[in-house]
Amino acid sequence: MYGNTGKVAYINCTTRVVEEVSLQEDMYKKFIGGSGLAAKLFWDYADFNAAPFSERSVLIFANGPLAGMPLSGTSRMSAVARSPLTGAFAESSCGGYFPPQLKYAGYDGIIITGKCTLPSIIHIAQGSFNIISSEELWGKTIDEAYSTIKERYGGRSRTLIIGPAGENGVAYACILSDAHHAFGRCGLGAIMGSKNIKAIVIEPHQTVIKYFEEQKVKRLIKELTPRIKEYIISQVLHEFGSAGNLEGHMYTGDVPVKNWTSNFNEEMAEKLTGSTLTEKYLTKTGTCAYCIIACKRIVKVDEGPYSIPEGPGPEYETVAALGCLLGSGDLAAVCKAGRLCSEFGLDTISTGATIAWAMEAFERGDLTEKETGGISLQWGDMQTVIDTIIPSIARKEGPLGHLFAQGSKAAAKTIGKDSINYTAQSKGLEAPMHDPRGGGHGHALAYAVSPRGACHVSTAMHFMETGACNYPEIGFEFDLEALTDEKKPETMMLATAIGSIENSACFCQYADRSLTFAEMVGILNAVTGYNYSLQDALDAGWRIYHLKRLINHRFGLKASDDALTDRMLEPARDGEPQGIMINFNGMIQRFYELMNLDHVEGIATIDTLHKYGLEQEAALVWKKGK
Ligand code: SF4
Repeated sequence: MYGNTGKVAYINCTTRVVEEVSLQEDMYKKFIGGSGLAAKLFWDYADFNAAPFSERSVLIFANGPLAGMPLSGTSRMSAVARSPLTGAFAESSCGGYFPPQLKYAGYDGIIITGKCTLPSIIHIAQGSFNIISSEELWGKTIDEAYSTIKERYGGRSRTLIIGPAGENGVAYACILSDAHHAFGRCGLGAIMGSKNIKAIVIEPHQTVIKYFEEQKVKRLIKELTPRIKEYIISQVLHEFGSAGNLEGHMYTGDVPVKNWTSNFNEEMAEKLTGSTLTEKYLTKTGTCAYCIIACKRIVKVDEGPYSIPEGPGPEYETVAALGCLLGSGDLAAVCKAGRLCSEFGLDTISTGATIAWAMEAFERGDLTEKETGGISLQWGDMQTVIDTIIPSIARKEGPLGHLFAQGSKAAAKTIGKDSINYTAQSKGLEAPMHDPRGGGHGHALAYAVSPRGACHVSTAMHFMETGACNYPEIGFEFDLEALTDEKKPETMMLATAIGSIENSACFCQYADRSLTFAEMVGILNAVTGYNYSLQDALDAGWRIYHLKRLINHRFGLKASDDALTDRMLEPARDGEPQGIMINFNGMIQRFYELMNLDHVEGIATIDTLHKYGLEQEAALVWKKGK
């Protein structure tokens, strides 16, 4: 097998048995790797009756075929499970240095089930897996655990670690790789915590990966590296990080402010944007393995109430979620709040969105000090956010901690009073920091039909709608107007396939923006020898998307779950998009037609599933009489 290793490790934490599972090449050809392979493994190995925190639930990590090759943007992997936040299919992707090491160790993925009796780590060395009891690490922040693990296993070991939030079952706890890169979304950290796994540690391995066309792979790396480096988006990312365009986004109305009640704030635009971060607090840049762009931020705040030592700094989503959304333009406070989330292991988007919803609920009187345990919530009060709210959530302390740790949808259901209407989420996953009302109406469609819930990275819609890429070789050369529904369902159809391929080959969506679709497929073919045509690749992307929808259907989701909240669809109150309505129903109906999705069940028709080679899956889901 080329590119891939052809095997995954199956770990049962209850029995402590680790098995090596060989996978057929056909599975890789159909599902590529990463997100697609993980979804297929989930389909095959998940107990669909198991609750997210059940001992029988599975947590799966999967590399793409490109992991380990020395090309910018290829060092990513996917993780999937059943989400404790949404009850649906959970997935998240993460960069860093862990993916190449897993490939060098001889594995394409890890399937974890069962539950360790005691808090433990999974240790991978010389190609073998061991479960080691590590009670002393339980309760430690991610930074503290990372330091101990590094001392114990050496500076070149790579880690996936959860913090107290994951241990305590916070529904949006994340997993951090090397205390910096995050599997942020959907609560995968809490799944790992429910299995009593504090960390997965991998020591360096030396295996050489075989490529189908060695010379071509070398040539492509040589040709593409300078282009990726010189691309304007790469340069902005390097200089200013992913928040580099926050100011620009604010002026288009793309940045949600104060729980999506506003689409514009001039002061925040200037004070929170990436150039301000670079100027005031950046000490150096960070990167993922082999990536020349180095978009990650390392920051230090020397003075004031929010001083922090040198360490990981916030990217765009964190700045907007813990700044703009909470009504704060204090960048030092945002850096500190982001750092706290990293140490506790909390997803910054869901954390910020849940607090922002609660601040509005408090302002309206829907939430009172009775429910918060005496804590007053005020827009922009970062001192309370940092000193009280974030630690309470992570530790699930007091009434506020318990309420907020469920996420905004569940918390809104708990307090009632129609407060669900002003959450910003789909399927229970809080929306990322791009407001479709200003950023582009296609984002609304993308959020609603994404299998994991409101998500802007499971498809390429965000980049396609904002003109960051064009793919004429597959018919995408629309000159799109952001604030209309025109051609958005058609774009979304292509964006779905492209996003599936990016997340399954595990291309970074920043680093691959200068590549044509044909080049992406060309790299995949040179690495694996699968000889995909462009149509084959698109079909693989759609196959993966449909499979994830089938998974959700088995968890009880239907077409009606492809929805957004009232707040996300009400006309914007200010800024560039003020007063404009999104034709959401028109877009989603057309998308359903284009994708042959059943308007009640929310899954593809039998014929469509057969067309994509999902006959067995279709037979299981489309039972007689449905
Ligand atoms: S662009 Fe940033 S996130 Fe993407 S691979 Fe490079 S360093 Fe990692």
